[in-house]
Amino acid sequence: MEICEKIKALSSQYRDYTARNLASLIQCKSLSLGEEQVQQELMRQMQKAGFDEVRMDLLGNVIGRIGYGKRILAFDAHMDTVDLGNLDDWDFDPLGGSIIDDWVCGRGSVDQKGGAAAFVTAGRILKELAFDRDLTIYFVGSVIEEDCDGLCWKYLIEEENIRPDLVVVTEPTNLNIYRGHRGRMEMQVHFYGLSCHGSAPERGKNAIYMASEVALEIQKLNERLSYDPFLGKGSITISEFVSQSPSLCAVADYARIHLDRRLTWGETKESAVEEINQLIKDMKARVEVLEYVQKSFTGFIYGMEKYYPTWQIPENHEAIQKGAEVFNCLFEQNPFIDKWTFSTNGVTINGMYGIPVIGFGPGNEVLAHAPNEKVHIDHLEKAAAFYAALAYHM
Ligand SMILES: [Zn+2]
Repeated sequence: MEICEKIKALSSQYRDYTARNLASLIQCKSLSLGEEQVQQELMRQMQKAGFDEVRMDLLGNVIGRIGYGKRILAFDAHMDTVDLGNLDDWDFDPLGGSIIDDWVCGRGSVDQKGGAAAFVTAGRILKELAFDRDLTIYFVGSVIEEDCDGLCWKYLIEEENIRPDLVVVTEPTNLNIYRGHRGRMEMQVHFYGLSCHGSAPERGKNAIYMASEVALEIQKLNERLSYDPFLGKGSITISEFVSQSPSLCAVADYARIHLDRRLTWGETKESAVEEINQLIKDMKARVEVLEYVQKSFTGFIYGMEKYYPTWQIPENHEAIQKGAEVFNCLFEQNPFIDKWTFSTNGVTINGMYGIPVIGFGPGNEVLAHAPNEKVHIDHLEKAAAFYAALAYHM
């Protein structure tokens, strides 16, 4: 397809532009709930690239738009990053945005400001080619993903009423096409015992013993959780154990365990809660699915339950086929189709709202959250071409 050749030529021509834009994004430190500076920089880049509209919503998501057609294609890149970790482990300044031997270096280069830099270039290419199909394209720099994946898209769908026909999650895929990942949820189990003097424990009921019995059952539960050939096995582990007692010379009357539950295909919030309810059915105890509620950098308070549903798109789904077609057109080979190990905004976009999602992004996910995070400029160039070409194939 002739358009693929034109797009490839432009993304190659804008290689350094993309790399420099990414470097500028990296220089804005942007932990979750502190994304203001990077969002201002992203808006500036979109405006310079000639987007039709650039705005920020109340939660702090930046929404760039090109076109005003009936069908909607959206690209998502979360702009928050995790913290830097031990600075001694880095060979370069994690916030320097240095470009060394065709690599753009720093925190967020892979996870996942590289996706944003690539889609800004894609927008510039589309404007330069005078893209005029019947399509609205949203380029979203989203917030708070590292703290609560999917929350930003819950906001965009429910409050901004943005309902795309397809969303491309630009988290790192090593330029493969990804079509799902396991879900997860956070639960706590509260145990209520009965306190009495520690010198006569038989008069009371020790909540620590209650919780410990269940803890050992949870260890066994982990072994028998479901397995899916594509997504792998569900898992559960206890990440915290807390107890209370009126005195260190008393029987503990309260205990609590925190559960990190990873959900494979077919496992849901209801099934995961029911498994725990079975383990505590003869006890004075209860399960709680936790809530995330925080104030974004704009001062807006928003939240959701800490339930991040499993999602996957079948390999023969139109969206995956479309992605593969674009990949073929540009790079003259078949893409590798796989899944993420970690979780993404796909948990709400597809897991909750059923909107088709495909993953395609620059960078290798093994460098996400790690020291010496860096992305090769070839990846940025190819991702930019892919995003622009996808708009033409919609
Ligand atoms: Zn990420």
